[in-house]
Amino acid sequence: MSKSIIQKNKECFVTKSTTNLHKHHIFGGPNRKLSEKYGLWVYLRADWHDMADYGVHFNKELDTKLKIIAQRRFIEEYPHQDFVKIFGKNFI
Ligand SMILES: [Zn+2]
Repeated sequence: MSKSIIQKNKECFVTKSTTNLHKHHIFGGPNRKLSEKYGLWVYLRADWHDMADYGVHFNKELDTKLKIIAQRRFIEEYPHQDFVKIFGKNFI
């Protein structure tokens, strides 16, 4: 498993809870493997992941917020790589 470049601790990115955690890849679908490779994932408590209607998989606002944070961190962490070329879209 790759190390997340978004968070240091194993805790929910939203609530800081340390129980009932799911691993969420910030860029899903065809980019899921790239999210894994570059550490663009976070832990979320199950409800904030996909077990409630406000979970990131149903919550466009939270989804977009995480994508913007992830793209910014990617640019800091991998200054010589082209995010838009790799992930196919600019979120900032
Ligand atoms: Zn997910």
